Amino acid sequence: MATATPPRLTRSQVEEIVRQVVTERLKAPGPGASGLVVHASARHAHLCREDLDRLFGPGYELTVDRELYQPGNFAAKETVTLIGPRSRLISNLRILGPLRSRTQIELAFTDAVSLGYEDVPIRLSGDLDGTPGAYVMGPHGVVVLKEGVIRAAMHAHMSTDEAAGYGVSPGDVMKLRVGGDAGVTFERVHVRVDPAFRLEVHMDTDEANACGLRYAREIGLFK
Ligand SMILES: [Zn+2]
Repeated sequence: MATATPPRLTRSQVEEIVRQVVTERLKAPGPGASGLVVHASARHAHLCREDLDRLFGPGYELTVDRELYQPGNFAAKETVTLIGPRSRLISNLRILGPLRSRTQIELAFTDAVSLGYEDVPIRLSGDLDGTPGAYVMGPHGVVVLKEGVIRAAMHAHMSTDEAAGYGVSPGDVMKLRVGGDAGVTFERVHVRVDPAFRLEVHMDTDEANACGLRYAREIGLFK
């Protein structure tokens, strides 16, 4: 019996197939169909001017690597090394810009455990009093951070109009349902309103993995 060799695709045929698949994915009505997008924020650092100077040298300016969804925010090319209790460390911790008035390190629960923290509280951005500290190492120097390590509370960015549409005010707490094989409803999504914000929910990587965000079939934000 003659065995047929499977036909080989030419390079241009492969490219055409890839193009079709990519285009279909882009057109697929994903969770953003209602204008709502949910993004997982990997662990990262926000730095104040003074700490950037100490870590990278006086007057140093961050380099934009990638613009983020919220206008004006970006992932920088620069990274730092984070050293936690018991001298465990995370290297290549991404810095997000622009600079803030206080340095803040945002970790997922898994990151906090692997660094040896007993407890890293869930806090809103900027609410840093009484949080644990860390050593932060850059190419120019080291910062001894007395406090500023948090797990970021899940939150929704929205414009004034979008807040009115949902009937919510800054500081309100909403629910986020992520439908899929896991099917999870998060009960505490903090509302943050600014005229310049675009509608977006931020969760950390543990939360995204827990709800299977990447494979979510439907996403809803409600009161
Ligand atoms: Zn955010």
